[in-house]
Amino acid sequence: MSLELDSRQRAMLEAMGVQVWWPETPPAELPAEPAHAAPVATAAPVRQATEPARAAAPTQRTERPTGIASMSWPQLQAAVAGCEACALCRTRTQTVFGVGPQPGDTPPQVDWLIVGEAPGENEDLQGEPFVGQAGKLLDNMLKAVGLSRHGNAPLKGAFIANVLKCRPPGNRNPSPEEVAQCLPYLQRQVALLQPKIIVAAGRFAVQALLQETVPDVHAQPLGKLRGRVHRYQGVPVVVTYHPAYLLRALPEKAKTWADLCLALEALDAP
Ligand code: SF4
Repeated sequence: MSLELDSRQRAMLEAMGVQVWWPETPPAELPAEPAHAAPVATAAPVRQATEPARAAAPTQRTERPTGIASMSWPQLQAAVAGCEACALCRTRTQTVFGVGPQPGDTPPQVDWLIVGEAPGENEDLQGEPFVGQAGKLLDNMLKAVGLSRHGNAPLKGAFIANVLKCRPPGNRNPSPEEVAQCLPYLQRQVALLQPKIIVAAGRFAVQALLQETVPDVHAQPLGKLRGRVHRYQGVPVVVTYHPAYLLRALPEKAKTWADLCLALEALDAP
């Protein structure tokens, strides 16, 4: 995929800390993107054995609420907050619904929806997606295209959410059952937000969003799904790497910039 940068984009890249150069020879082999892009060690201290035990978790799970497809924004927020539809409710500190501008009872007015995989330790503690170092990197990337999670002027707002609303213990991979249980919440978020572009960050977000339109999505490396515009619920979807992975694979930052440029193109397409 070719990417031609004008001076404005180069300035944005510099602001992101992305080096603009293309190697003449293939780069050394990079670490594979982790199945679940957990925060790097510096971003999230490992839980110590001495950490106080969490309050007793419920022993009985309940069914996922019905009628998600017709819920209002506040109904959806309440349903997620009280959800016990999979085993992750037993180990979470709190659910992580998502973050965007204009918090309140109506869906934020946003063109961009960023979808990650699942809360990590810091996200579970703070109740907000993409915090810590990976979150800072995401914020810088969003800023480079004129966006922020809170939409503070002159930046426009973007909504950020995960496929899973609860943290898998130890940042393990989400199970297919957990994804299946939780996905209706994201589906309703998309329906209510009506974004003009979705950026799917990381393998599990990509698989969850494209499983109905890319038949062999689970068998395809994420890199093969980049560089083209997919669809989810009629909304254009661009695939990119998870920011936590980029912290370990710095040369891939340039590819993520290319993905954001593709998202900008898709957003402007008639
Ligand atoms: S991960 Fe999703 S389905 Fe499972 S308990 Fe949390 S909100 Fe419910």
